Amino acid sequence: MSNNPIIYWFRDDLRLHDLPALKAAVATGKPVLACYILDDDSPEHWRMGSASRWWLHQSLDALSNAIEALGGRLYLASGCPEQILGALAQDTGASQIYCSRSYEPWAQALEQRVEAALEKLDVGLLCFRGSLLFDPGQVKTQAGTPFKVYTPFWKACRLSIEPDQPVGAPEVKFWNSRRHLGMSLPDLALISATEDRADNWQQYWQPGENGATVRLREFLDERLALYAQGRDFPGLDATSLLSAHLHFGEISPNKVFYSVRQAVMGHPALDLAAEKFLNELGWREFSRYLLFHFPQVPDKAFKPAFEAFPWVGSVESLAVWKTGHTGYPMVDAGMRELRQTGYMHGRVRMIVASFLCKHLLIDWRVGERWFWDSLVDADLANNACGWQWVAGSGADAAPYFRIFNPITQGKKFDREGTYVRRWVPELAALPDRYLFQPWEAPQSI
Ligand code: FAD
Repeated sequence: MSNNPIIYWFRDDLRLHDLPALKAAVATGKPVLACYILDDDSPEHWRMGSASRWWLHQSLDALSNAIEALGGRLYLASGCPEQILGALAQDTGASQIYCSRSYEPWAQALEQRVEAALEKLDVGLLCFRGSLLFDPGQVKTQAGTPFKVYTPFWKACRLSIEPDQPVGAPEVKFWNSRRHLGMSLPDLALISATEDRADNWQQYWQPGENGATVRLREFLDERLALYAQGRDFPGLDATSLLSAHLHFGEISPNKVFYSVRQAVMGHPALDLAAEKFLNELGWREFSRYLLFHFPQVPDKAFKPAFEAFPWVGSVESLAVWKTGHTGYPMVDAGMRELRQTGYMHGRVRMIVASFLCKHLLIDWRVGERWFWDSLVDADLANNACGWQWVAGSGADAAPYFRIFNPITQGKKFDREGTYVRRWVPELAALPDRYLFQPWEAPQSI
């Protein structure tokens, strides 16, 4: 057998465990040349935002260190994947490239371009599922059409085949050559020197596979029991905080799915919480499923009538929303949490999104764009579907006339005011009864 390598093209699957494509690459018996290519052109106007770039930088650092600890090296490059992969294959004599499939419309088009370019060089591209529990092409209604409603979709998924059991990290024999060093991580320029927002983010996040594993463990040990009752309360630490780890593929949904199931086997009382949590993973599957079948979802209202909606919002009101100075404590707390941590609690995402579309009458796409740049877990499918759900224009969305009242939402979901007091410290001393409508407080307080 020749000693030419197999190329493993890392994409949104920045891990070594439970990675079907890597397992298959290793099974060929050939040494593996691991590479990551930063491609800012293919996504066009959905080029990665600044918070995601911060996360990606840390995540590539973690992956690179993990590969080096195993005696390998992560080849980094920036530019056009079909050219870089073609050149790398020709240079090393690799005849096959393995990768995980991505579901963004531009990523699928890219896969086709890469495949066509490589075919001319007699190099094969093999793509595997790695970021979803269920294959979006296989789940259909009885009429053979894509589902547009969540509940029957998730039911059909759960009644179909069981998701694959997660597997450990394969024993990878990495291919090394000093000639193929590629770029250094700082050369990818993912973190801008002028970016000050991310200075503090290290205290909140540990990007990379180890960080994802720790987060899952913490969730199972400390938060899952609270999840069913607590997940809507932003002042409680009851959700998993796994969204960015899942987005970058630092942990597989299969690993999360089966770990939660296993936790229930040990403690049957966790059953309700576990089902609620798996249901949220189901929404993640549904969003990607919608994006796969309806690729216009990030840019156009799913229900076409909403394209004619007369948005009126002003530049000034957008600015106060973005900076968290609307005067509505629950909205401001969310927007400041976002700025300071790159994350916002899920319940509060709905409140601030509703406020933008339904109070300020600003087009949901403007908010979607701000989230895209600001969230460390920015995800084309989840973000677009989240915004369209709130705006009322999405598949299986909240009715357009449902408005999240930021005052009553605060009173209901932040009863003690923990969340608002944390993120809007100038209100910390206000008595509870004025906290969500501070304009009613007497001047003397
Ligand atoms: P948990 O409650 O612990 O849920 C576990 C996982 O399930 C999450 O990590 C996530 O992968 C998935 N999930 C949970 N809720 C949803 C949902 N409603 N839709 C799809 N998947 C879900 N999620 C993103 O990952 N990226 C985004 O860019 C994003 N933008 C959003 C924008 C808006 C306007 C709204 C309303 C929601 C958005 N969400 C997005 C969905 C959701 O708010 C986050 O996934 C969740 O809050 C992340 O926190 P967690 O990991 O602690 O969630």
